Amino acid sequence: MQTQILPVDGQSLELAKKIITNGGAVAFPTETVYGLGANAFNTAAVENVFKIKGRPNDNPLIVHVHKDYDLSKLVYDVPEYAQKLANAYLPGPLTMVYKSLGAVSSAVSCGLETLAVRIPSHTGAQNLLRYLDLPVAAPSANISKHVSPTTARHVYEDLKCKIELVLDGGSCAGGIESTVLDCTGDKPVILRSGLITQEMITAVAGECGVYVPKDGERVRSPGMKYKHYAPACRTELFAYCFKEDALEELKRQTAAGVNAFIMCDSATARLLNVDKVLDLGETENDIAANLYAKLREGEQVAELIIAIAPEKQDGVMSGVMNRLKKACGSKL
Ligand code: AMP
Ligand code: MG
Repeated sequence: MQTQILPVDGQSLELAKKIITNGGAVAFPTETVYGLGANAFNTAAVENVFKIKGRPNDNPLIVHVHKDYDLSKLVYDVPEYAQKLANAYLPGPLTMVYKSLGAVSSAVSCGLETLAVRIPSHTGAQNLLRYLDLPVAAPSANISKHVSPTTARHVYEDLKCKIELVLDGGSCAGGIESTVLDCTGDKPVILRSGLITQEMITAVAGECGVYVPKDGERVRSPGMKYKHYAPACRTELFAYCFKEDALEELKRQTAAGVNAFIMCDSATARLLNVDKVLDLGETENDIAANLYAKLREGEQVAELIIAIAPEKQDGVMSGVMNRLKKACGSKL
């Protein structure tokens, strides 16, 4: 199968519609990462998305809809706090988990009684979803466990010859996946951190929990239990307070003939004065936006990425830390 990369326009939207309504999958841009979308009503199409990615079949997908889609066709029991959050932050990088009406294929939620719904703000994504006027089940458009894609080229590297079409909407501005928020209880609970932070949710909903799975408990968001975001090369992760040790490690590995790079934010790179650096940028939003592209660059140029955690750990950096720890297989 030939894989085409096309800008989002009338012609490519028509082709995307043809593929998706025939039960195929199309990669498309969002403000977080690229998604691999299929018709959420079509079980075979949804199962095919799992197959293309090599995704475990107990890790549910998020349904994407355009901003005027009538959600009462898909879910029920939308609490008042969820409505307030939707008014404040949607369209945007916030996925809300509700009780499912069972209208979409049960393959989307892997048999769970809930459905995760997202309304992306990216114009290309909105255009596609409006053109289709269907709920589109979409995980990130990468091979399972690999680093998520933030450009059309990243998608192509992972899925070439496996899908027909990648809609190219440029680099994703957000860079890490959406915040996943459980809205089935009395208060919102973050299942996966992202660009809509606990502080932002608390400001609107009055309170916001963060779910931490207990040992032996069945996880509430099955995706959380999997290894994720891993580059093909070796990785090590150092806490910010041990940045000097990371520098020593770089020197030691380089002396031993290992092609190692430090990965850190720009200010830390200046402080340590390293030249072999995968620079994540200056601001928190830069760091989130560049993280996956730098992990992918790292696996191309390095045998070992020595990552230094950001100094700050709250807000957007809590989402970055979550990805960084999983990418580096670290318990930091
Ligand atoms: P990805 O598509 O790779 O960004 O992963 C989607 C994430 O959403 C995974 O972490 C899933 O576990 C989570 N998710 C999707 N549907 C549900 C659901 N119904 N309940 C809880 N978590 C969900
Ligand atoms: Mg993913």
